[in-house]
Amino acid sequence: MELWYTEKQTPNVGITCKVSKTYHTEKTDYQDLALIETEQFGRMLVLDGTVQTTIKDEFVYHEMITHIPLFTHPNPKKVLVVGGGDGGAIREILKHPTIEKAVLVEIDGSVVEVSKKYLPEISCALEDSRVEVVITDGIKYVQEHKNEFDLITVDSTDPVGPAVGLFALDFYKSIFEALKEDGIFVAQTESPFYNNDLISRVFKDIKSVFPITRLYLCSIPTYPSGLWSFTLGSKKYDPLEVDTGKIPELDTKYYSGRIHKSVFALPKFVEDLVK
Ligand code: SAM
Repeated sequence: MELWYTEKQTPNVGITCKVSKTYHTEKTDYQDLALIETEQFGRMLVLDGTVQTTIKDEFVYHEMITHIPLFTHPNPKKVLVVGGGDGGAIREILKHPTIEKAVLVEIDGSVVEVSKKYLPEISCALEDSRVEVVITDGIKYVQEHKNEFDLITVDSTDPVGPAVGLFALDFYKSIFEALKEDGIFVAQTESPFYNNDLISRVFKDIKSVFPITRLYLCSIPTYPSGLWSFTLGSKKYDPLEVDTGKIPELDTKYYSGRIHKSVFALPKFVEDLVK
């Protein structure tokens, strides 16, 4: 018998993948969690029926949410990841030799445990001595820290349930305060095809808090529409001012110094969302 998994990405469109195995299903305190094997994308982490990450395409998201801000900052030492319990962002952050400490604040401990067990390629850096994993609400954690981080990345689920507050103006203000005086903030901000109102609103809110605000794009096959956005707020350093000739080759599959600036060149319909 064939088994297929469908995520309804909008009420009218979905993505469907053939499933060869179910490793784990659980109702956690926060969400429905599933870890399945798909024929096309390999192991896949699903939360509340929404694809979070897959073995085949995770590199795009995790490289792009980390290396763009980390190569914009001249000397990043202390980084906070809010969400991101799969550990992929942490794995990329630790590729930067300047990093002394990376804190992961994930609300759902089950995501971390299941990722450690079934997604070792992604979660492999969570045991590194520079990493601290804190299981709590990222909103509360950020409010309680001031002037501490060089980079804060918000690697969240969609803006539903516990992640709603991660897309709010008050949260961006707390992030500004938790960053050092030259800190950078980046968040995943959904699809320009399906979440255009959200992108416009979030960009406007981040722009009201940070002197430099930029949107950039990348292509992720398992995310709604395949085109994904990130919004970056910076106190001092502009990703478009980086001398990309000086960016060293890293062990990456999507990010390089050659695409660092090009991802900020937006299609006209996306430019219109952030005008
Ligand atoms: N790359 C993914 C995507 O865009 O689909 C996100 C991956 S990561 C698994 C998202 C994580 O954010 C989830 O594990 C979820 O539990 C966590 N999360 C949601 N709200 C949170 C909050 N308020 N504080 C900390 N973590 C939160």
